Amino acid sequence: MEVTLRQWVDEAERVVVFTGAGMSTESGIPDFRSPGGVWSRMQPIMFQDFLASEEMRVEAWRRKFAVDVEIGGAQPNSGHKAIAHLVAQGKVTHVITQNIDNLHQQSGIEADKIIELHGNGTYAKCLDCGFRHELEQIKAAFVAGDEKSAPGCQSCGGIVKSATISFGQAMPEDEMRRAEAATLSCDLFIAIGSSLQVMPAAGFPVLARHNGARLVIINREPTDIDKAADLVLNAEIGAVLSGLVGLNS
Ligand code: NAD
Ligand code: ZN
Repeated sequence: MEVTLRQWVDEAERVVVFTGAGMSTESGIPDFRSPGGVWSRMQPIMFQDFLASEEMRVEAWRRKFAVDVEIGGAQPNSGHKAIAHLVAQGKVTHVITQNIDNLHQQSGIEADKIIELHGNGTYAKCLDCGFRHELEQIKAAFVAGDEKSAPGCQSCGGIVKSATISFGQAMPEDEMRRAEAATLSCDLFIAIGSSLQVMPAAGFPVLARHNGARLVIINREPTDIDKAADLVLNAEIGAVLSGLVGLNS
């Protein structure tokens, strides 16, 4: 276990954890970069195209349900559990995540301490009225229609989409505000499993550092903002975090 990280966590009063796709690879969910990963096989569907064409919406639902068959049963790994432990101790105030897999919630962290910058892929929402739809019902309607039409909103007839933020879709304002406030109030910011290439997400670690917090990056390979960090650990996430909190990985 990295002595400096443990000492800095001990010394810190308010820690913010920021996670990317690397957080969940040990749960069996591929990140963006792994060859053959679910996200890398196809061009993403842009938000504008999803809105503009029923054919694209049908394609989006087809892909979504195919991906869920592969990764739907994923469970929190030792890294998620270690973070939940630090939240329960009152050390970590917020987890800001780019992930959409719901695994931080499943690890036992209260929803109000998790800030999802890219939404959540375990349910769907109407883009017009905001009504929440469960995926099982959408899937049943989709299959019943021979996968030829995209299910509409039960409440208003509007367009229903997985509750994630697509390429081309605006970042969620409330989450961005909450992430900024959490970042500005921490004294230690730990960025975990993100290549930190995607803005605005990569902005939060830099903001924390400029605001006087210590910045630690834990990632298997170098990231674009390593130079700004006080400590970079090129290591496996589960091992580092379970070592940090004294849990077996
Ligand atoms: P990324 O794929 O660009 O970067 C992930 C980083 O994690 C890589 O640098 C990789 O080397 C590292 N990594 C992977 N497994 C690791 C491990 N076990 N230990 C240490 N390092 C490890 O991910 P990103 O920066 O989060 O950007 C991808 C975007 O795609 C995200 O914004 C997210 O919305 C979406 N996405 C989400 C999921 C998910 O919800 N689990 C999965 C894939 C992609
Ligand atoms: Zn609606």
